[in-house]
Amino acid sequence: MNLSDKVALVTGASRGIGRAIAVELARQGAEVFCTSTRAGGCDATLAEIAALERDVAAHALVCNVAESESVDALQKGVLDDKGRLDILVNNAGITRDGVFLRMSEEDFDAVVETNLRGTFLVCRAFARAMAKARSGRIINVGSVVGLTGNAGQANYAASKAGLIGLTRSLAHEFAGRGITANVVAPGFIETDMTAAIPEDLKAEMKKQIPLARFGSPADIAGAVAFLAGDAGSYITGQTLVVDGGMTM
Ligand code: NAP
Repeated sequence: MNLSDKVALVTGASRGIGRAIAVELARQGAEVFCTSTRAGGCDATLAEIAALERDVAAHALVCNVAESESVDALQKGVLDDKGRLDILVNNAGITRDGVFLRMSEEDFDAVVETNLRGTFLVCRAFARAMAKARSGRIINVGSVVGLTGNAGQANYAASKAGLIGLTRSLAHEFAGRGITANVVAPGFIETDMTAAIPEDLKAEMKKQIPLARFGSPADIAGAVAFLAGDAGSYITGQTLVVDGGMTM
């Protein structure tokens, strides 16, 4: 298996894209730490990994990436147990959509704190151990909206655009230590996050997708596993768009 003997961490692995990433990394042989903000939040993910019958260990940890004490506890939980981290996937993310003139400071801050500051905190918590090991893969889940912008998502687009700058900076700063850092930018993926979008709007959006379907969490998991594996070893500082051609 491509990722045998690797230790991976996926934030926000209770459902949706994060859950699919955790399962795919485990399927490829990695030992995976999964996080949720809720105790028991990753039970279904762990059950899905167990059902693979791959003889790989999987663990659940509680973490709110927006709180530095919680991220410190996450770092301790992984590094005290394994002593290293090979693959870090920052997937945890939220939306608080609203038209710009009515967007509250609270909604702006909440999205930036989780999506951007949270990714900063988790990267900082594990970069030292990766640098010491002189190897590591950091994969941050962005969004095509971070490249294109989107009406009603100024906070979310800003957070995801910021993620690209953060990731490229890490790519520069840690290349000499054998660490790569990349963004996977999904388009429209069918998860809880997009479930509330009205059907008529969804139908309009689908018309903009050349591959004529919405993405699945597994589509994103495949791209993440590619960057995490041997095939991704010479790729750093990139944003890999996985959107069925929607933004090309
Ligand atoms: P989702 O179904 O809403 O799942 C979000 C995940 O993030 C959950 O596991 C949730 O954990 C976790 N999370 C939320 N706030 C957190 C916090 N403060 N600390 C730690 N974990 C937190 O979302 P999704 O659609 O799978 O999206 C996953 C990622 O892909 C996000 O970064 C999102 O921006 C990005 N993305 C999604 C789409 C799409 O179309 N769905 C498109 C582009 C990008 P708990 O609720 O269990 O605590």
